[in-house]
Amino acid sequence: MPKNMAADTIDFKSYLQMSIEFFSAPEIVEQARKERKICGLTFPFSELIIAGGALPVFVPRLNKGRRYDVIKAAIAAKNLLGAGTLAMGFDLLKNVDRSGTVINVAGNLINDIIMSLNETYEAAVKESADLGMPVDHCYGAKALFGLYKKLGHFLDMNFGLDVRCSVFFNFHEALTINKFVKNNFIMDMPYTAGTDAVEFFEKEIWNYIHFQERITGKRFDENKFKNVLELTNQAKKLIKAVYLDIAPGDILPCSPATFSELNGLLVYSQMDYNCRLQRYVDHITQLVQEMHDRIDNTSKRFDATGYPKLIYTPMFGGFEPEIASIADELGARVYYPDWLLYGACEEVKTTGNLVRNYAENLIKFQHGFGLTNEEMGENIIKLAHDMKVDGVIFNEVFGCRTMCTGHRMLKDIIRKKEIDLPVNVITFNNMGDSLGQVKTRVSAMVEMLKGK
Ligand code: SF4
Repeated sequence: MPKNMAADTIDFKSYLQMSIEFFSAPEIVEQARKERKICGLTFPFSELIIAGGALPVFVPRLNKGRRYDVIKAAIAAKNLLGAGTLAMGFDLLKNVDRSGTVINVAGNLINDIIMSLNETYEAAVKESADLGMPVDHCYGAKALFGLYKKLGHFLDMNFGLDVRCSVFFNFHEALTINKFVKNNFIMDMPYTAGTDAVEFFEKEIWNYIHFQERITGKRFDENKFKNVLELTNQAKKLIKAVYLDIAPGDILPCSPATFSELNGLLVYSQMDYNCRLQRYVDHITQLVQEMHDRIDNTSKRFDATGYPKLIYTPMFGGFEPEIASIADELGARVYYPDWLLYGACEEVKTTGNLVRNYAENLIKFQHGFGLTNEEMGENIIKLAHDMKVDGVIFNEVFGCRTMCTGHRMLKDIIRKKEIDLPVNVITFNNMGDSLGQVKTRVSAMVEMLKGK
């Protein structure tokens, strides 16, 4: 885990607050299930679920990992002290957790919990192989399969969105075949562009709405949908501000390693907006404000001048978290902008036909993901330009025959356009594998960029 994290997370109250909220899903779901149906999802499109009166949850959040005692103690302390004084109140945690575990991890709260989330993924990957999931499937699909096997019974339904990847489609189907979830809806994708595609998605959305109404017994409310879209638009605007306004600057609100982890939190938490949308918007508003305050405060900010900026993508099929600390040690910074790249941070128009607008947004996502590797390559180049980054670390996930083969096309486009954007390919199989290779490649890239 990034060695520079602990020092600046301890007094970064909004980050601490969002992290605790992220890891509180088991409590939130337990309370909510008395009144609302619970719906799993695998991409950050929770608006239909929320507007339909159900509770969205990204399944990995439901796991009570090895450090769940720490999370419970932190929730208790936060409730007692408020997030603002949580950092100062770690003393009180001594009383909340008599085992002393909290004391050992107090300076390392988020690191430790993230490590436990990573362990959850590792265990799920191993289990999915035992369950017969082909071993040559990508890490992400295997991990989710194992997690749904373990936690799918908490869900009343599941919302799967197809992308141009047969492995991901197989994973969604396997949830139904193996009865890991009670009611599984897989939204198909159009394979052509144009108005036909919008109409296709509109129909799929209505099919999903009717499916959801049958399970929840609640009518889908378009006024509520409008409110939900307004709130998620606000959240997306703020997430974009982190990547497009703050990340490109040389003065960061915290160390580069912490900033990478914070990017990770944004990626994971956007999936279901930490189950509580209004609260999420409040928290991210505070987070962005606190980032600006820290940037203005010489004792809290981090001067990253001379630290090359790298983006690490695609990462949703599995990624190496150690890359953040490796880059930090080398005097570089790594950002994780996947959702921004795929268009999942694009706002939805809130006037006129909302279902149609949402369909148009889903099309943007399909194009953001790239209907072809050429389109994906163009998207990476555009994002690299918008984020003013110096290089791309392309994550080639073992078993992926779709997106992760796209680095060749990306390099071809860069060559043809004569753009100055170095691309380094790192292969990923399991977390912690090939750390030596990761270090060598990142270090060669950082050295080259620093020597420019
Ligand atoms: S990493 Fe590749 S194989 Fe895995 S879900 Fe993503 S596109 Fe599909």
